[in-house]
Amino acid sequence: MSEKNNIVELFGKNVFTVGKMKERLPKEVFEEVMNIASFGGELSRETADIVAKAMKEWAIENGATHYSHWFQPLTGTTAEKHDSFITHPNEDGNIIMEFKGKELIKGESDASSFPSGGLRATFEARGYTAWDITSPAFLKEDATGTILCIPTAFCSYKGEALDKKTPLLRSMQAINEQGLRIVKLFGNKDAKKVVASVGAEQEYFLVDRELYLKRPDLIYTGRTLIGAAAPKGQEMDDHYYGCIRERIGAFMKDVNVELWKLGVTAKTQHNEAAPAQHEIAPIYETANVATDHNQIIMETLRKVAERHDLTCLLHEKPFMGVNGSGKHNNWSLNTDNGMNLLDPGESPNENIQFLFVLACIMKAVDKHADLLRQSASDVGNDHRLGADEAPPAIISMFLGEQIEDVIKQLVETGEATHCKSSATLETGVSSLPELLIDPTDRNRTSPFAFTGNKFEFRMVGSADSIGDPNVILNTIVAESFCEAADRLEKAENFDEEVHDIIKEYMTEHQRIIFNGNNYAPEWVDEAERRGLPNLRTMLDAVDTLTTDKSIALFEKFGIFTKAELESRKDVLYETYSKTINIEANCIIEMIRRQIIPAEISYMKEIAKTVKNGEEAGIELKTPRVLLRKVSILVDELTDSVDRLEGYLDEARMTKNHKEQAFLYRDNVKAKMEQVRFYADDLEKITDKAYWPIPTYGDLLFEV
Ligand code: ADP
Ligand code: MG
Repeated sequence: MSEKNNIVELFGKNVFTVGKMKERLPKEVFEEVMNIASFGGELSRETADIVAKAMKEWAIENGATHYSHWFQPLTGTTAEKHDSFITHPNEDGNIIMEFKGKELIKGESDASSFPSGGLRATFEARGYTAWDITSPAFLKEDATGTILCIPTAFCSYKGEALDKKTPLLRSMQAINEQGLRIVKLFGNKDAKKVVASVGAEQEYFLVDRELYLKRPDLIYTGRTLIGAAAPKGQEMDDHYYGCIRERIGAFMKDVNVELWKLGVTAKTQHNEAAPAQHEIAPIYETANVATDHNQIIMETLRKVAERHDLTCLLHEKPFMGVNGSGKHNNWSLNTDNGMNLLDPGESPNENIQFLFVLACIMKAVDKHADLLRQSASDVGNDHRLGADEAPPAIISMFLGEQIEDVIKQLVETGEATHCKSSATLETGVSSLPELLIDPTDRNRTSPFAFTGNKFEFRMVGSADSIGDPNVILNTIVAESFCEAADRLEKAENFDEEVHDIIKEYMTEHQRIIFNGNNYAPEWVDEAERRGLPNLRTMLDAVDTLTTDKSIALFEKFGIFTKAELESRKDVLYETYSKTINIEANCIIEMIRRQIIPAEISYMKEIAKTVKNGEEAGIELKTPRVLLRKVSILVDELTDSVDRLEGYLDEARMTKNHKEQAFLYRDNVKAKMEQVRFYADDLEKITDKAYWPIPTYGDLLFEV
């Protein structure tokens, strides 16, 4: 293997890893940094200077010219501003390369150009970035040069969170504190930390870049706003896990190398269900680093795609009629001394701590199903949830046959005396090994499925940050742990109290368990009977952030203040309106400036043929009929665009952000679908030579 391909050497090459810190920092400094990274606290200015110097030297040795505080504003993507290491020239006109502790720890930026939902108007325009010592600094290498990126949190002057990272770090603190109480109560006295671990599987589409550049809708909105279905979709199931074509393989190979250099454990890659759709998954790590790494994965996919004359589409629904893209957020809780709180072991019925943790999670998910659903909503995901390809907007839990049976025993009798064991799979071929069937089995339709030793939250959208869902998971479970620990710490008989809590929680919250087919329409009725919330769209879920229940939860654990929640809601409503507004502008422009002119040329051509026929004394029936059809559809299309513009004007003029967002959803978006309907009908009868944009067939099958 060539040096370039030696993964062991390559891995983490561009990361200021623990190993590099150990090598380059004095022992006491290294220990102080590690201690703060694990247990919190603040670096002294002197220590920060030493760390900054070591970091700078390493970065410069590796070609870095600039540093950047890398953060995650509420746009859901990342932000960076580069500062070179150079200083003011001395008298001789020479510069040195400098990077001080204070520049490492804190940055200042104008927060007014990032979404803040009113926080900046009430308080200050200035925003601050603060070094997140728990996520390693890394070097970003591309045509810009080499930039030292320092993961940071982004806050206002008064410390209000303006980003996705700050609440995530707060929620990790909460789950750590409450999780520790639980494991200590159950006898794990040596544990010093409980962390949420996350592995996020990322789906995406790849299309040819040249074709992409001919589609204004893909350029401006990330999805196709019009486009008739290709003759073939995904009905043959031949793409999922299919042989990876070389053009895509070459892309994946480069993505892996880039990610490995950045310390991202790219592990799994495969073709997904829809044509041109693929998936990548890293190995799980702490929720915070996993969230940063997911951003790096998305950015790397986009960047490397361009090098291969491809474009990576991360939108949740780039194409109508084939599967959209999501992100499976695999989540578990682990102690620093190697215990996974979600590991049921061989006999879950005897694993009291596991059953207790499970009962707490059932309570948390049932009580805050609305928040969990909200955390997985974004504008694009509205096209996906409940559309027979992804879980519906109803939160339920899948636990598998074995655990469900244990719960049933507990609820009915208060004891779980036995558990179903793994069966073996009979293949009928003697040369094949015996396979044990996973007793948790898999229910691919469940939004929140227990898969062995973790929960897989499958609702998250492909373009969205995984920050929000993990904030919610950590916080709701922290609350549940806290309430249970309060009882246990006071209990006279620990074993009895544990037993009572398990039985009580499981009985009260068993309605959240659903093992059946989540895609079935009957489930919607059944869920309603059970009283489970069904928040169909993103907008239906926004206000869940500020119910009394939510405010109490978030304030109790210091995750969000009421002001922060209000601001986030406002950002969500505004983002919704802005997104649909861009989509509407785009479809109008495409119809008026591309589709209608193309159809006029096409009609001219047909009319000429008809006229030529008449002159020759032949009645040409086909062109006549076609001309009439095209002309009727073009009129309908024009009318529908006019109507869309009317609704768009009304929405634009509405001042209240919430009201405006609903107008965009109920009027503008609905009318866009009508426009699309006529455009797609026209596409089906228009000479391909006249159709001005690449078709679904071109985009999905020509990569
Ligand atoms: P699937 O069969 O659904 O693809 P995998 O077992 O391949 O599931 O895991 C998918 C993701 O879950 C990977 O990112 C993996 O690292 C992560 N994962 C595995 N175990 C855990 C765990 N205990 N906690 C969190 N994530 C995990
Ligand atoms: Mg999975």
